[in-house]
Amino acid sequence: MDKPIIANREVTKHILNTFKLRADKKLGQNFLVDEEIVRKIVEATELTSEDTVLEIGPGLGTLTQALALSEANVVAVELDKRLIDVLDKTVGEYKNIRVVQGDILKVNIQETVGAPTFKVAANLPYYITTPIIFNLLEQKLPIERIVVMVQKEVAERIVAKPGGKDYGVLSVSMQYYTEPEIAFLVPAHSFMPAPNVDSAVIVCKCRKEPPVDIVDEKIFFRVVAAAFSVRRKMLSNSLRNMGVSGDDVKAWLERAGIDGTRRAETLSLDEFAQLTNTFKK
Ligand code: SAM
Repeated sequence: MDKPIIANREVTKHILNTFKLRADKKLGQNFLVDEEIVRKIVEATELTSEDTVLEIGPGLGTLTQALALSEANVVAVELDKRLIDVLDKTVGEYKNIRVVQGDILKVNIQETVGAPTFKVAANLPYYITTPIIFNLLEQKLPIERIVVMVQKEVAERIVAKPGGKDYGVLSVSMQYYTEPEIAFLVPAHSFMPAPNVDSAVIVCKCRKEPPVDIVDEKIFFRVVAAAFSVRRKMLSNSLRNMGVSGDDVKAWLERAGIDGTRRAETLSLDEFAQLTNTFKK
């Protein structure tokens, strides 16, 4: 197939002009125009012809095309109705691409993808980065690997270790479900239009088993949320947001063997698990 490579500034401009389109900022439309970055995303997704990959927000088909060239089956979910005709023209000839119009936060992902296991690749719309990632992970979908472009600052929070200001609910949750890594940074000029922030591609290998033993996942996430709800307060204070009295929090911290003067940002996943497993209402 000798289709032009879409990940190119001139080709992208030509597509936008042909369809009389402007990128819609509200939908987080920053199209990739850097072939090298697109190639690196596909490489990090580690696709074979046996794989199915879900692409969130195919846009003009830039990454979609590169994913299809890896011979994997590509299912691409795009919200913007205007882009469905565009995608038909730009990537419609690839037999291994299926474009679905819909909101990734609303569609039934498992049914839409229709494969027993799959990978995810995307240059995410930044206005809904965390809802998209949480939606994928909390549903416990059979996802093997998530490779996504996010704001650099979000990537840093996702991979942060205890002890720093970046470590929070996002870090604990992502590290509970996956093994996240920053694969590489992406400058603003790799996009059209250029976003106002720096970007990074993260690779998250989804865990088959949680990294810590916990009695109840719901309690675990409630404890994490309560602990970080007032970041600068000591645990003896913030954990009262679990709906327990100061005395009960004190007794609870003793059972868990955790010093109540510490702050949430110093706790490891193991320590959050200890708190979960010793919680009594
Ligand atoms: N993949 C293309 C690229 O790399 O050039 C476009 C990426 S652009 C950053 C984000 C894409 O997500 C846009 O095409 C936008 O219309 C789409 N989008 C925004 N919100 C969405 C949603 N809720 N569900 C599905 N797609 C969405």
